[in-house]
Amino acid sequence: ARARAAIDEHARLVPDFPSPGVEFKDLTPVLADADGLAAVVDALAHACAGAELVAGIDARGFLLGGAVARQLGTGLVAVRKGGKLPPPVIGVDYQLEYGTARLEIPADGIDLAGRRVAVIDDVLATGGTVVAATRLLEQAGARVDTIAVIMELAGFPGRAMISAGAGPGVRVHN
Ligand code: IMP
Repeated sequence: ARARAAIDEHARLVPDFPSPGVEFKDLTPVLADADGLAAVVDALAHACAGAELVAGIDARGFLLGGAVARQLGTGLVAVRKGGKLPPPVIGVDYQLEYGTARLEIPADGIDLAGRRVAVIDDVLATGGTVVAATRLLEQAGARVDTIAVIMELAGFPGRAMISAGAGPGVRVHN
C-alpha cells in the first residue's frame, strides 16, 4: 500500500516513448524520493523473502536489486544486456515486439547451482524480459521461484507469459 501510494504520487507517464503510441511509465522519480525508495524496496524484499540470491535485470532492476539483496542479506547477480560482460558468459536471445534482445550472466565465478533466486525488475509488460532472465538463470542451475516487480502494466499478458514460459511454480509479485 505504501509502495502503491508512492507510485501514484511520483510516477510519470510519458506519451509516445520509446515509440509513437506507447505510454512509458517512468518510475525513476519514485526512487528519487526517500520514502518512495524505502516503500518499493521494502515491498520487493517482502516478496522475495526466502531467496538465497537476488538477480537484478539490466538496468533499472540493478537499482532495486542491490537494495533488496542488502535488505535480505543475500548476494546479488546482475543479469546484463548482451555484450557487457567479460567472457565466459551464458546468454539467451529472446523476442521483443520489434526485433530481438539478449541477456547474459557470467558462466564462471558465481555458483548458481541449486540456489533459490528471486528475479527483480522495475516494470512487467509482456513478460518477455523476466521469462528470458528466468530461463537463463535456470540454465545455470538456479531455481527461480519468485519474480518481483514494482509495477505490472495493465493490458499486457505478463503473468500468462510467465506461467507459460517460466513454469507455473514461479510466484509473481507487484
Ligand atoms: P517486457 O519484457 O515486455 O515485460 O518489458 C519489460 C522490460 O521493459 C523491463 O525491463 C522494463 O524495464 C522495460 N519496460 C517496458 N515498458 C516499460 C515502461 O513503461 N516503463 C519502464 N520500463 C518499461
